[in-house]
Amino acid sequence: MHCPFCRHSDSRVIDSRTSDDGLSIRRRRQCPECGGRFSTIETASLNVIKRSGVIESFSREKVMSGVRKACQGRPVTEADLAMLAQKVEESVRQTGASQIDTNEIGLAILGPLRELDEVAYLRFASVYQAFDSLEDFESSIAQLRADHVDRLSGRADADQ
Ligand SMILES: [Zn+2]
Repeated sequence: MHCPFCRHSDSRVIDSRTSDDGLSIRRRRQCPECGGRFSTIETASLNVIKRSGVIESFSREKVMSGVRKACQGRPVTEADLAMLAQKVEESVRQTGASQIDTNEIGLAILGPLRELDEVAYLRFASVYQAFDSLEDFESSIAQLRADHVDRLSGRADADQ
């Protein structure tokens, strides 16, 4: 999105708000070049194909309510959920597709949820990926542990 003031080819989103009906997003943007602020309205052309075949427009609320269940009793706030839903929406929009299925939304949730809370991530993944044995949990936990080690050694490398 070009800056309307100086035509700079880039702008930074400083706030995003979904309208009450969930059909559009208003973004406040700021130009990194001249500092000018402007708003854009993005109309939802993002549809979700449910397992039943029903098509409905993408809703951050639905993402939040799906994840909220997995977060029960965890130190996750509504603001965290809202941020996660925003990330999910951004990542599915980045694919450029105007229609996605619920499966792809589930996939897009896993990454940011894992960053947010690993226990909630495991709960969500167990439902979404239909874990049916202890081995499924064990391999997911092993993966989380392996990534912790990677992250720690990555940090050590960066310090050198
Ligand atoms: Zn500008």
